[in-house]
Amino acid sequence: MPIKSSFWNALGCAALSWMSCTAASSSVAQTPEPTAAPLTAASATSATSATSAAAAPPAAPLTVLPYTPALDPSAMKRDVDPCVDFYTYSCGSWPTNNPIPPDRPSWEVYSKLATQNLQYLWGLLQTAAQDRADRDPAQRLSGDLFAACMDEPQIEARGLTPLEDSLGLIAALDAKRRLPVVLARLHAAAGDDGLLFAFSSQQDPSDSNSEIATLYSGGLGLPDRDYYFKPDAKSLEIRARYRAHVAKMLELADAAHSSSPAEAGSRAGADSPAGAANPAVTKEAAREADVIMRFETALARATLTQVDKRDPKKVNHRVSARELQKLSPHFAWGLYFKTRATADARVAPAYAVLNATEPKFFRAAGTLLESTPLEDLKIYLRWHVLHERATLLPHRIADEEFDFYQHYLRGIEQPPPRWKTCVRSVDGNVGEALGQLFVERTFSAGTKQQAEDMLKGIQATMKQRIAALDWMTPATKAKALEKLAGMRAKIGYPEHWRDYGGLVIARDDYFGDVVRADQFENNRELAKIGKPVDRDEWYLTPPTVDAYYYPQMNDINFPAGVLQPPLFDTRIDSAPSWGNTGATMGHELTHGFDDEGRQFDAKGNLHDWWAPADAKEFTRRAQCVVDQYSGYTAIDDIKVNGQLTLGENLADLGGTILAYVSWQAATSQMTLESADGLTPDQRFFVGMAQWACGSARPEIMRLRAATDPHAPLPDRINGVVVNMPEFARAFSCKAGQPMVKKPEAICKVW
Ligand SMILES: [Zn+2]
Repeated sequence: MPIKSSFWNALGCAALSWMSCTAASSSVAQTPEPTAAPLTAASATSATSATSAAAAPPAAPLTVLPYTPALDPSAMKRDVDPCVDFYTYSCGSWPTNNPIPPDRPSWEVYSKLATQNLQYLWGLLQTAAQDRADRDPAQRLSGDLFAACMDEPQIEARGLTPLEDSLGLIAALDAKRRLPVVLARLHAAAGDDGLLFAFSSQQDPSDSNSEIATLYSGGLGLPDRDYYFKPDAKSLEIRARYRAHVAKMLELADAAHSSSPAEAGSRAGADSPAGAANPAVTKEAAREADVIMRFETALARATLTQVDKRDPKKVNHRVSARELQKLSPHFAWGLYFKTRATADARVAPAYAVLNATEPKFFRAAGTLLESTPLEDLKIYLRWHVLHERATLLPHRIADEEFDFYQHYLRGIEQPPPRWKTCVRSVDGNVGEALGQLFVERTFSAGTKQQAEDMLKGIQATMKQRIAALDWMTPATKAKALEKLAGMRAKIGYPEHWRDYGGLVIARDDYFGDVVRADQFENNRELAKIGKPVDRDEWYLTPPTVDAYYYPQMNDINFPAGVLQPPLFDTRIDSAPSWGNTGATMGHELTHGFDDEGRQFDAKGNLHDWWAPADAKEFTRRAQCVVDQYSGYTAIDDIKVNGQLTLGENLADLGGTILAYVSWQAATSQMTLESADGLTPDQRFFVGMAQWACGSARPEIMRLRAATDPHAPLPDRINGVVVNMPEFARAFSCKAGQPMVKKPEAICKVW
């Protein structure tokens, strides 16, 4: 959920988690993609569909999922020397066979699988959307939401009327002392952290058994704080385009407003009778965009960098209610909390302690609210309400939003077809209802068992490797082993499905449905405060093609969606699946011991269990990885941020080694066969590389370089194998070749 953007940064995700695990965005294209195909429903006919689906996006729901093997020879480029560029050798033909669809910023094995799962879910939702009496609660909830979303004429007919409640609240704001009330009301039904800041719950970093009230920084319209300051030409252009987009949106909203008599009076101050073509409005909108830009730039200045947000200590600041009040003396926090409590009936109004994740931000925001004229604050709030809900509004608004955020910033050529938007919306809003329908039909007990067996092998290997580490003292090793033993694995889907009781979904009110779903989710989160933690909770929905480690739960999570071909393939020899899913499992496990995860103990508390000398040695070894990846180029003249991507790179390296050793142990009594012209060891490594086959548009590569804790895909593969002598042996690489580091230069942590 976007509201927890800071929280999500604490997750260690497997692959394309920029979609599901990084910072907030209200854009549809960034919502997590559902997925997962039924092994039981998979068809055996599919070498061809693997290459044809992308070029011509299918227009019909799938009832059977195409099968692609975990090692796909057609994706390889065998005229490339694997010892020179292993990624291109393994994946070089994949982008040619799988061009980026026009509604995607990039296209990879993961996103292709996710899209196939979307198509499968589409079929389930078409059935569930039929207004029949025999639907079960999960079908009714997800089906009615889908039906409402698909009803575009209804959305067009309502125009901007659904925004009236929020815009009316802002318009009626006549004194700054009322701001906490207005913000609380807007936040209660908000879907992201765009309105200045966000308030939610969080597992207490200092006491992982309880939930603590938490305030997050927010309020920016550009993807990251650095976008507001970077002096290069491209950044200047982005800011100019952003300003123009904001002005255009305000203008469109005004035009809609002035054309609808029912909405008169909703906007305070400079009301103009004119429509979009009126130059006065254009000038006014431009002035308002400048106001917004200035305000957001001041917020951005006080916001932590992406690198800092990855440091759990830098976002753990327990304060009392009084201390919070001191941070921003002119903002009546008590009034804010009290109003949230009224809106969320189940919530206690007083918080003795809170985590004000970024005190500097809350101090600066307080000062900024004090120094900014009320009318300017209202302009800022209007913009964010509009921006947050733009994708739920008529085309003229939704399209302008798409133009800037998806087309310009991410390079996407055209909006996704409506069905795709709506399947994603159901997954994002009532994902555990949709997930039930999915898991029932697709995830077999046999698959679950095989995944659990693989994971057990990897856990056993990690245990042996920690015990055998030559750089760690016995005391720290004992703690590391304790942490490993305490790490819980969740496979497939939650043990208890979420209860959506009380959530009203109406077939003829899509906007209202999404607002109520956000409200329901916000209530659910706030109701946790002060209560014991539900350790059975999942943060990804079952059909999602991704996985994560969560340090405060100390658990690793593999949804059903990520445990299917071509990632996890039980039909062919096991080497490619060990390289692929095995390395993903090892990746998540290693997150518990990366630069971020290692700061949490076995119980999930932010507690230092490292002997100082061991911590120093870890940092020294991790620096080798920072330096290696900092040398890679992300795009144009932008280098990979070795510090931002450190956790993921450590997880990739550690995870692949764990998978390799575990695979060898699991097959030590077997005679393994070569296939497709590849030895068993080569099949392990090509299988490993092929999870990452794909390509991306330059716009999204630029955005990811600034915000994504994962390195670009080719570096995630080549950056690992250069540190593995096992790889060099498998392909008979020679010293001095690009994929072979000098022994003394090899990075080795876990
Ligand atoms: Zn990860």
